[in-house]
Amino acid sequence: VRVYVPRDAAALAVGADAVAGALAQQCAARGLQIELVRNGSRGLLWLETLVEVETAEGRVAYGPVDVEAVASLLDAGMLQGQPHALCHGLTEQIPYLAKQERLTFARVGVIDPLNLKDYEAHGGWQGLKAAAAMAPEAVVQQVLDSGLRGRGGAAFPAGIKWKTVAAAAGPQKYIACNADEGDSGTFADRLLMEGDPYCLIEGMAIAALAVGAAQGYIYVRSEYPHAIATLNEAIARASAAGWLGSNVAGSGKAFHLEVRKGAGSYVCGEETAMLESIEGKRGIVRAKPPLPAIEGLFGKPTVINNVITLATVPIILAKGAAFYQGYGMGRSRGTLPFQIAGNVARGGLVEKAFGLSLRELVEDFGGGTITGRPIKAIQVGGPLGSYVAPSDWNDPLDYEGYAAKGNVVGHGGLVVHDDTADMTQLARYAMEFCAIESCGKCTPCRIGSTRGVEVIDRITSNTGAAHAANVALLESLCDTMLNGSMCAMGGMTPYPVRSALKHYPADFGIEPVQAA
Ligand code: SF4
Repeated sequence: VRVYVPRDAAALAVGADAVAGALAQQCAARGLQIELVRNGSRGLLWLETLVEVETAEGRVAYGPVDVEAVASLLDAGMLQGQPHALCHGLTEQIPYLAKQERLTFARVGVIDPLNLKDYEAHGGWQGLKAAAAMAPEAVVQQVLDSGLRGRGGAAFPAGIKWKTVAAAAGPQKYIACNADEGDSGTFADRLLMEGDPYCLIEGMAIAALAVGAAQGYIYVRSEYPHAIATLNEAIARASAAGWLGSNVAGSGKAFHLEVRKGAGSYVCGEETAMLESIEGKRGIVRAKPPLPAIEGLFGKPTVINNVITLATVPIILAKGAAFYQGYGMGRSRGTLPFQIAGNVARGGLVEKAFGLSLRELVEDFGGGTITGRPIKAIQVGGPLGSYVAPSDWNDPLDYEGYAAKGNVVGHGGLVVHDDTADMTQLARYAMEFCAIESCGKCTPCRIGSTRGVEVIDRITSNTGAAHAANVALLESLCDTMLNGSMCAMGGMTPYPVRSALKHYPADFGIEPVQAA
């Protein structure tokens, strides 16, 4: 009997290794033969450790399983897929999964992440094989036609970036994957890297063939040791099998790949600071222009894309641009892996086409708050994203609609707060975060964030004319940071501050409490 126990960091954090050990030991003691597979996480994080048993009908899910539950699960006949209080039936029929549209995450949690045979059996390398048989311009055109935009947050069309690098002069070009996933409440990159590393490798190899790059780097934050280890092993195995190296997929072209570990700086998620860090320098933001597509890593033309962007490329090449383009709404094509976190009953990863609402994500998928109290605020797009107005929670989620209202979709991370949240403290946190993480290159961000913390403290402690003056000062400071900062760190910190002020004025003592 094949039994799946995730090796993903989220599962390990709640004891997956101990569960796997207990299963192996207790099955051996009972004379039961099992094949233990350590898969990635399905992204149903509230059910971790999620143990799955393969049956004739499909995989049956049990969770959350801890060491104490193992004996009773075996007593109940878990290995035959029998009912138990922790049984959720067939995994694929759990509504949270069944309602998703998993394209990029199709294999995550399904396969053994490092097993090349498993990867190939589930559609792996189809995109790279197709790309190797095409002219490079045709590969770029597929990505352009798919409508794929950067999933790291900026939403810039990936195909245009690739076209610029392909057209740039010079024999030396690079592919740099941004895996510095530092936004609070985000974990899609990590789940992908730990659960389906070959998918990212395949996407990078396709990018390399398309633009003529022979070297690539995956810049992974140091806080992701499991992702780093998994990627290093996957790169070694893919190279030995001929998917990387001097003759990528029989194309006659070379592409070598290395993992570079970050050193704990949030701003290294900004693409030019990341390039500095890969080059071995202190991670500070570079002025643009020149664009990295023209003068990037080591001064050479460089494609910089986020993990999810690159990991989405294989399915586009395998199934065609029109297939991917068929999902989504408006100019937001395809799917986005949303990450539901914070005070939520069912936190996890939901990959869906653009166009669903925040309310569907947080209430239908997320099940509301874990405290059972009303939802007060939802921050979308990481620590620099806005608190979306409660009146907009039913809006369809897409890049343009969100931008029109001063919001950002970003990397698709949602952080939920219940009605006990104090929005003054969340606004203060945004300014404090910026003060700690600022690279220090420009004044509005370096000094403004520290002044921002002080002004918010004065707003919460002053009354009368001084209070009004400090609110006006905070608005003015936000203006300066928004318009005068060199990068998104200082330029977007006003988003959470201003949206908190605008949608929750009562918390700032501006007017009486209103129902959210
Ligand atoms: Fe550095 Fe902040 Fe300026 Fe960005 S906005 S360049 S992080 S000081």
